Amino acid sequence: MATRGKTHLGLVEDALKIDARDLRHLGVFRTGAFGQLTWDLTWGQGQSQLAEANYWTTETELILDFKDNDRSFRQSARIVQQDCHLGGFRRWLLCPYRGSVGVCFRRVRCLYLPAWANEFGCRNCHRLIHRSAHEHDARVDRLRKNIDLLEATVNDQSGTLSANLRRQRLATKALQRGYCRPNLPRG
Ligand SMILES: [Zn+2]
Repeated sequence: MATRGKTHLGLVEDALKIDARDLRHLGVFRTGAFGQLTWDLTWGQGQSQLAEANYWTTETELILDFKDNDRSFRQSARIVQQDCHLGGFRRWLLCPYRGSVGVCFRRVRCLYLPAWANEFGCRNCHRLIHRSAHEHDARVDRLRKNIDLLEATVNDQSGTLSANLRRQRLATKALQRGYCRPNLPRG
């Protein structure tokens, strides 16, 4: 992965995801709800990673007991409600990721768990970008490289041009000097 000059650590698409919209469809947000969420991530050559989380929901929190081959942890995320213009309401999660300056608490629709992490967090906390953005970055990188190359070529050409002009001017001067040089008597 080309990460030169980039601060992202991975792709959104490679991480396990909890989407508040899916949770609503699954009835997870009902107070007192409980059950199991499962993920099946398939890597190249048919390798797959199974992960599961037992969950239960209180009035304000979603609590997860997460488990996969390498990790096992409990985490809870606050649930918040926002009224919609056309009636009804929308639910969000507050990012529960604990960074060096405390809990993030950003209001998000999705939480992610990348392969290297031991807690769910928002895209920002885990420094994830979408594949499309990454590919766009790669294209910009290539273009930038081409611009550098183009500029280098232009500079080189103008350098060559000015060197040629300089040489011409010098030649003219030498010629003039030659013409101006007094004819010394031979012998
Ligand atoms: Zn966060």
